Amino acid sequence: MEHFPLFIRLTERSCLVVGGGQVALRKVHALQRSGARLTLLAPTLCDPLQELIQADGVTHLPRSFHPDADESELIRGAFLVVAATDDDACNHAIAEQCERLGVHCNVASDAAAGDLVLPAIIDRSPVVVALNSGGASPTVTRYLKRQLEAFLPARLGQVALWAEQWRSRVKQRLSDIKLRRRLWDRVLSGLAASYVSYGNQQAADNIIEQHLGEAERGVLDGEVFLVGAGPGDPDLLTLKALRLIQQADVVLYDRLVSEPIMSLLPKECERIYVGKRQADHAVPQQDINQLLVDLARQGRNVLRLKGGDPFIFGRGGEEIEKLAGQGVPFQVVPGITAASGCASYAGIPLTHRDYAQSVRFVTGHLQNNETNLEWPELARGGQTLVFYMGLSGLPAICQALQQYGRQAETPAAIVERGTTPDQRVLTGTLESLPEIVAGQKVKAPTLLIVGEVVQLQSQLSWFHP
Ligand code: SAH
Repeated sequence: MEHFPLFIRLTERSCLVVGGGQVALRKVHALQRSGARLTLLAPTLCDPLQELIQADGVTHLPRSFHPDADESELIRGAFLVVAATDDDACNHAIAEQCERLGVHCNVASDAAAGDLVLPAIIDRSPVVVALNSGGASPTVTRYLKRQLEAFLPARLGQVALWAEQWRSRVKQRLSDIKLRRRLWDRVLSGLAASYVSYGNQQAADNIIEQHLGEAERGVLDGEVFLVGAGPGDPDLLTLKALRLIQQADVVLYDRLVSEPIMSLLPKECERIYVGKRQADHAVPQQDINQLLVDLARQGRNVLRLKGGDPFIFGRGGEEIEKLAGQGVPFQVVPGITAASGCASYAGIPLTHRDYAQSVRFVTGHLQNNETNLEWPELARGGQTLVFYMGLSGLPAICQALQQYGRQAETPAAIVERGTTPDQRVLTGTLESLPEIVAGQKVKAPTLLIVGEVVQLQSQLSWFHP
């Protein structure tokens, strides 16, 4: 490790920045956030720096640094120095003088020159992440910063401040350090932290209080995360879904959850398949509900991972009803539902000013080969219909819509395995689509989209696996 990372309080300390351009500006911005008193040494300043010197605690010395002159008085007055001129020789001279005088120095363009590196910062105060690649690759640092920015909850700072308020109370009530760690893991990965982020501290307090009571009795319950995994492409996961997936101790998943998404689970996470195929109910719904409760009672983070959105034809409601009844904490993370995912990747806008003023998500699942749906309403024009689970009922659906008055030429599409590399789109009309599909080997899952918007597909499709 060439540079040792440290965090230093700079409040009210004098820092000297030499240079008045864009590089200096970036450094000044970073230093200013820490409350440092800044002196800018530069004959001229760029416009934003001009504005900054109006601020309290910023002084401008309108002259150049003289490499050959003795600038020790200036340097000695500073706690740290940043050399950010566009003249390398001058920057090195600054670093040399600092070295001689024992003042820390950062050379913006050359990490090896000074003894200080100003890292890339992710500020979720009081949580601060500092990144440095030792000057080897600022692009790697920038890339990493963007990745981490996306992954760290935006309101992490509030959570840290809230946790601080509870720290000593938790310590008092739980003397066993292992139990304390488990409690904090539970609280920080779970619902309590979510509540704090959204400003409901009271609810978060109640949860930590509940967990504390459990921990004192030696039974620390887990939580259930009901997470929508989207239609297949792992890039369509929400950030929150990804965070919770990575915190799972055990996962209950079904057929719709794609392999690339399963590969994001922690290695040690136990996997339980509870999927269903038509007419082959692998695990009855009631048993899944009970399993969720039992696993959470073992003190584990239970991930219930579902394709698409858990609340759209996902029976997510039934599962959390059971959890709520049993007092098991849970949170629900929405996912991109198949209709949104498939429509976007197929190039079919679900609504359109000219063609469709509304869109309906409809189950195409037939009971005893009959669709008990409001056909007169569904057959009305000016709307897009999206049928989930509609492949085997396709001929019956197309026929019923025509019978109740929707034109035989109404465009319709089947999207097969939408958003995955195997996606295929078959288009036709209410009249022709059943035959087109019958002539192909079509694999589940598939989605049926009916309406004038489907005709835009040929112009707008962009996803070609
Ligand atoms: N909760 C899920 C839907 C579950 S019902 C969601 O919000 O998407 C299962 C049906 O969803 C399938 O029969 C199929 O019609 C549709 N579906 C899910 N993923 C799909 C995909 N990648 N491509 C096409 N249809 C899909």
